[in-house]
Amino acid sequence: MKPDVKGQTWWVIGLARSGCAAGVLLRHHGARVIGIDDNEIEMVHRRWEREGLSLLAPRAFDELATGGTWPQDHPHAVVISPGVPPTHPQLLALPSSVEVIGEMELGASFCRADLVAITGTNGKSTTTELIAHLIRKSGLRAEALGNLGTPLSQIADDLPAKAVVSLEVSSFQLETVKNFSPMVGMVLNLAPDHLDRYPDLEAYFRAKQVMAQRTAAHGHFITWTECPEARSWETSAPKFLFGEKDHGAQVFYENEILCFVIEGQTVPLLPIREFALQSPPNLLNALAAVAAGLVLGLDEKSMAQGLRDFPGLAHRQQWVASLGNIRYINDTKATNVHAVCAGLDGYNRPVALIAGGSGKGESYEPLKKVMGSVVQVVTIGEEGPAIGKALEGLVPVKAAKNLDEAVKLATLSLQEAKPGADADVMLSPACASFDMFASYRHRGEAFLESALKLGAQAREVSGE
Ligand code: ADP
Repeated sequence: MKPDVKGQTWWVIGLARSGCAAGVLLRHHGARVIGIDDNEIEMVHRRWEREGLSLLAPRAFDELATGGTWPQDHPHAVVISPGVPPTHPQLLALPSSVEVIGEMELGASFCRADLVAITGTNGKSTTTELIAHLIRKSGLRAEALGNLGTPLSQIADDLPAKAVVSLEVSSFQLETVKNFSPMVGMVLNLAPDHLDRYPDLEAYFRAKQVMAQRTAAHGHFITWTECPEARSWETSAPKFLFGEKDHGAQVFYENEILCFVIEGQTVPLLPIREFALQSPPNLLNALAAVAAGLVLGLDEKSMAQGLRDFPGLAHRQQWVASLGNIRYINDTKATNVHAVCAGLDGYNRPVALIAGGSGKGESYEPLKKVMGSVVQVVTIGEEGPAIGKALEGLVPVKAAKNLDEAVKLATLSLQEAKPGADADVMLSPACASFDMFASYRHRGEAFLESALKLGAQAREVSGE
């Protein structure tokens, strides 16, 4: 049953994409919606223009309260966008009878389709898209929604019960969960991240644990055998593991073939050599996606075909340009140390690595373990010196003033070290982008532009 919000007054806090989607949904069902944002109205309007929301936003709100003004009367309930902390003083000042929920929770309460909810430190977006891709291959309707782009509230109301939503969920979104109960809950992996927002690692992991607690008892909780925390979490749903066969996985690799166990029998699904995406992190994501496919009852042929032709997402280990034998790999979405390590571990071509940006309170020490194929590190941004310090003495390190110079230095170092040899310039920053760029996407686009300036040829790429 969809909630009855008719005649109720709701506040929606955060007037970006999620807030607008929540407002439209609530108004469509007869609520009066007041949109609130701490930013001044001019800034809100600029954001709407930038994000293509200028047509949607006016339909989302009956009234606006911006620039620090707040409505006098208490609302029936409040929806907060993922970027708004639930500890906002105005929220804490509300009586406890006023429910405060996240945008995702609102969307879920209006959604009749089954939810497959994916969280973890890295690989969420890729796995969310891959799961939707596998479901579509088997002839069902699937939508990839949530943190990676379209908010759940935007289309939840229109989805038929037969559809499946593959939903990327961030730890921030899990902080406000109350009744959210996905059919499949997944924790891909856990590593340090967002330590600028959480007091410590335990607090960040506790936010992720909500996924295990909230997965429907009649569904499945999926996690990685090599993630001891998530494996140990209590959940009322049966656990389904992917990863290492010897560690109890039901989906794993054996002799370079993705296999799964059914009724005690090992069934081969597809050899790795036939996968469209073969990087080590994507091999893990493929296991996770097949695990979800199996608990959803997808047929084997469709899943195999899906793995063969999944194009992957832009900005993640994406080969974007070439200059002779040098490839330019855009991994700008590697905004934490764990993602960089996953991408470089076992990498089989010489790499000039460009890293740095704005920090999130992480240690760069783990990077030392994956320098095997790195012949040059070029640092950029605020965290450049800290990364350089961690790697000093292990690999040659140069500091660049900006990304343009970094791409030039990285290319030169490869041309000088082994002229004409196969090698990669890789942007895999281990940091957020906000010290130098508007977003990780903007940083990835600037990386390609810098390569093109040096005479590199852009590559036709599919994906996001
Ligand atoms: P998220 O949505 O969690 O940020 P993405 O799919 O956007 O995940 O990938 C972000 C970064 O993490 C990229 O650098 C990618 O290469 C890396 N990555 C992808 N999958 C994994 C994984 N399973 N383990 C570790 N790193 C991964």
